[in-house]
Amino acid sequence: MQKNKGILLVLSGFSGSGKGTVMKEIMKQYSDRYALSISATTRAPRPGETDGVEYFFKTREEFEAMIANNELIEYAQYVSNYYGTPKAYVEEQLNAGKDVILEIEIQGALKIKEKFPDTLLLFMTPPSAEELKNRLIGRGTETMDVIESRLSRAVQEAEGIEKYDYLIINDDLEECVEQFHSIVTNEHYRVSRNEENIDNMRSQLAAFTKN
Ligand code: 5GP
Repeated sequence: MQKNKGILLVLSGFSGSGKGTVMKEIMKQYSDRYALSISATTRAPRPGETDGVEYFFKTREEFEAMIANNELIEYAQYVSNYYGTPKAYVEEQLNAGKDVILEIEIQGALKIKEKFPDTLLLFMTPPSAEELKNRLIGRGTETMDVIESRLSRAVQEAEGIEKYDYLIINDDLEECVEQFHSIVTNEHYRVSRNEENIDNMRSQLAAFTKN
């Protein structure tokens, strides 16, 4: 059987759902299977973030030039900053057979699904709203104003969860990593993702009946 093409995966979740930590762990354990897309953003780096690692940090002018030059697959505004996915890396990694993860918010996720209907959409939540608030405060990297904006954005995003394919509840890091990986592994066996294998099998069978 031939190895099938990489799957485009979109992971969304409320700010504070822990999706960044889960993705770091996924990349640590399964770097041969997945490629994590690095987005461009106009938001300022948080302490400990490095340009080209968590994000490509851009000015508004630079970001708008990327839009004009058609370098982004999608982009969106989130709490007064631009965020977008550079096209070249995603295409290259999918062609190399890797499952490519986009960790993006809901507007971008829906744009991607419209352009590429084969995309698998995953939504991550913490176990409760209370826990979400505690994580945002505990992170200690945002002002109370920004935390409030992120919580009200979460209320809007919660309206769109039904548009996703899978819900992953992030209670325990290790369990969450395993759930993510097993959902994606199973997705590769979906009949609609194996058309080439099926065609090959059919032509081989047809060759038997000819002889
Ligand atoms: P943060 O500022 O917490 O790193 O990210 C804020 C939100 O922007 C998160 O929901 C994150 O998933 C989303 N995001 C990050 N990169 C992109 C992107 O390239 N496109 C879109 N549409 N959203 C993104």
